[in-house]
Amino acid sequence: MLARVLFPLPLPEPFDYRVPEGMTVAPGDHVIAPIGPRLVRGVVWSVEPSASAANLRTLDEKLPGAPLPDVSRRFIEWAAKYAAAPPGHFLRMVVRSEEALREPPSITVYAPTGAAFGKITQARAQVLSQAANAPATAADLARAAGVSTGVVKGLIDAGALAPMRIDADSPYSVPDLTRPGRTLSQQQGQAAAELIALVETGSFGAALLDGVTGSGKTEVYLEAVAAALARDETAQALVLLPEIALTQAVMQRFEERFGAAPVEWHSAIGPKQRRRAWREVAEGRARLVLGARSALFLPFHSLKLIVIDEEHDPSYKQDDGVAYQARDLAVARAKLGGCAIVLASATPSLETLVNAQAGRYRHIALPLRHGAATMPDVELIDLKLDPPDKGRWLAPKLVQAAQDALARGEQTLLYINRRGYAPLTLCRCCGHRMQSPDTQSWLVEHKYSGRLVCHLTGFSMPKPRECPKCLAPESFVSIGPGVERIAEEVNELFPDARVEIFSSDTAPNGEAVRAIVDRMAQGEIDILIGTQIVAKGHNFPMLTCVGVIDADLGLKGGDLRAGERTFQVLSQVAGRAGRAERKGRAFIQTYLPEEPLMQALAAMDRDGFLAAEAAQREALGMPPFGRLAALIVSAPDERAANEAASAFGEAAPAADGVDVYGPAPAPLAVVRGRHRRRFLVRANRDIDISAFMTSWSARVKIPNAVRVQIDIDPYNFL
Ligand code: ADP
Repeated sequence: MLARVLFPLPLPEPFDYRVPEGMTVAPGDHVIAPIGPRLVRGVVWSVEPSASAANLRTLDEKLPGAPLPDVSRRFIEWAAKYAAAPPGHFLRMVVRSEEALREPPSITVYAPTGAAFGKITQARAQVLSQAANAPATAADLARAAGVSTGVVKGLIDAGALAPMRIDADSPYSVPDLTRPGRTLSQQQGQAAAELIALVETGSFGAALLDGVTGSGKTEVYLEAVAAALARDETAQALVLLPEIALTQAVMQRFEERFGAAPVEWHSAIGPKQRRRAWREVAEGRARLVLGARSALFLPFHSLKLIVIDEEHDPSYKQDDGVAYQARDLAVARAKLGGCAIVLASATPSLETLVNAQAGRYRHIALPLRHGAATMPDVELIDLKLDPPDKGRWLAPKLVQAAQDALARGEQTLLYINRRGYAPLTLCRCCGHRMQSPDTQSWLVEHKYSGRLVCHLTGFSMPKPRECPKCLAPESFVSIGPGVERIAEEVNELFPDARVEIFSSDTAPNGEAVRAIVDRMAQGEIDILIGTQIVAKGHNFPMLTCVGVIDADLGLKGGDLRAGERTFQVLSQVAGRAGRAERKGRAFIQTYLPEEPLMQALAAMDRDGFLAAEAAQREALGMPPFGRLAALIVSAPDERAANEAASAFGEAAPAADGVDVYGPAPAPLAVVRGRHRRRFLVRANRDIDISAFMTSWSARVKIPNAVRVQIDIDPYNFL
């Protein structure tokens, strides 16, 4: 027999092997096979009898892990074709660790034997009652009973506790589908019924759940999840969230609804949890998974529903390594698996909205907030007419509103999407700007850490005392504000207020995020100053005043989606205000109040804004009415980058309905010491731009030092 094996490596296709005597393999099996001098883990893609198999190298080992389902394999192939990338790249995302494919490790736990022994102290009694409740390891028993491990050891020696070997990866609790959900409003009930109907077709179908912030989208899709899991005993459901920061709050709501925590999957879980989650999903025991975009690649057998919460969120797009848009891949995954998909948002992406308007997705609307809550009033502050005092960033009207909220015992949120203190550090003597050494970007001053930081690469250095160029001492001035600088101003204005900063610097992990969100939700913070991390999904009942420090910030740069994204994030931020009974107000500081985008924000006229945006994109043949792809060539040496770029320029296939622009130096022409050149390809909607990119890149032979990256439907134009 001949087995074709795909490896998690950048290879164009599977390799052929002979299946040795005594081994049987089937498609999806995990195997170890030789490549050159190495033994590498891969997945059997197909098996067939072949006379030539005798001459091939032999498979080394078959791993015991559950085989990769057929649908996962087809998904890998589809994704690779779409992303114009080798399928091995996607296989690597599907099967990350070999540990999950080996026999599960076992651990020793202890249970009471009931045997009589010496004196029963209180400490001993506590351990015995813990162990009777749930047998656990000696260390866990000691911890749970609040005693030293010596106590547990004493009980073991006395024969009161006996060891048992069990699988280290215990199964997850099964969601309890008989528990009732919340009582839904009429609007919510109708939306839930439509989603349930979609799930119950048992085949592919997509819906846009289009509800304003606070309308109860989560409550509604929880009902769809319940319906999906109820389809049969092995049914699985997947809920994707854009940000790990959100998982804890949503996990809790799932736990309340189903009496069991869903399986968590994102970059911050440890290797043990990863192994357990992967195995339980692969073996069909994990029923409900909540995770970041990478959870889409888990080996589900029996997926009945995918929910993409905050579907508009740009973090669904991955653009380093293999570029892909998880939302689009999720729709493809749902099609391949014949399941339902729900895209939920208060500010849907133009792509999704156009799909809904064209009838490809059902459009389910929740236009009202739940309960007594109403949408906030949004007011523009024209920074030309109503400027902040010199050296300050908050206009008097915003200061007043924050003051009023404070006086009423309510909270304020100030939004500026810039970490650190100041985005630019300049020598006042010679004008020198502090720049990253190997990347074309300005260093951002972080006052709390006293460092200058490159936000692109993470490079940082202490802020120098003298200008490296003209050697003038103490000559640096900080230009522009970041969250730290706004906090400084707020502390001066409201010395008694409890002020906190919420950014990836102050909340670098899920735990820290949860702590800030909890403090805010419990009213322990008066004024929260945050980056885009605050814009997402949080419910702060006492928050009534929202201020956007610089609404124009996101509009700079030639990004296709700059307007759409600015509208989304600002209306999400504004939507944090007044989510309970108290009315909210949002203030948007801008130099461009007459811009249609700002006017639409003030009027909360999302549909008007998106219609204008759509008309513009349609006229230019831009996504979603046309297709875009980027090709980026980079090399440590500028000449090599230029030569490779011109080779690509000459090799570009001529095709009707396809325009190739470039090469041009990328706006960030040097990153981590690599010189970058960009092409942008625009094609009509009916053209397979992925196939075009694949055939184009196959025409050019490039030296080893040159890297080529293809990005289908780019979101990042740097
Ligand atoms: P969205 O996801 O649309 O922003 P959520 O589902 O988070 O809205 O709901 C907003 C708030 O209203 C949450 O605190 C939620 O618990 C509450 N809520 C929504 N619907 C209901 C309901 N039917 N019964 C009770 N509380 C609800």
